[in-house]
Amino acid sequence: MKKVYSNNNIALVWHVKNMLEQQGIDVVTRNDRLYSIAGEIPVTECMGEVWVVNALYYQYAERLVKEMEKLESEEMKDWTCDACGEDISGTFAVCWNCQSVPGCEPASGLT
Ligand SMILES: [Zn+2]
Repeated sequence: MKKVYSNNNIALVWHVKNMLEQQGIDVVTRNDRLYSIAGEIPVTECMGEVWVVNALYYQYAERLVKEMEKLESEEMKDWTCDACGEDISGTFAVCWNCQSVPGCEPASGLT
């Protein structure tokens, strides 16, 4: 087995696992169950890991992970708020004008 991805964000670890499985690659995750006790142990020890079972698929899996990370960094680009049309810097996850979250209804009481 070869480790293709690690992150202390367990959601991303699972995202990578699901993505690779959808491509027909057998993977296993490690340390993903330590999430509930995070904070009681050093962060590096609750780093979730994705391992490719068959090393023949490793390079393919690695390429898919890189493409995913590239897509995620592109998601940091500037975006336009659906709710109010404000142009928002990609470093903001929430509209600074109306506090709405992309894909969600505008937050109430925060106008
Ligand atoms: Zn807005």
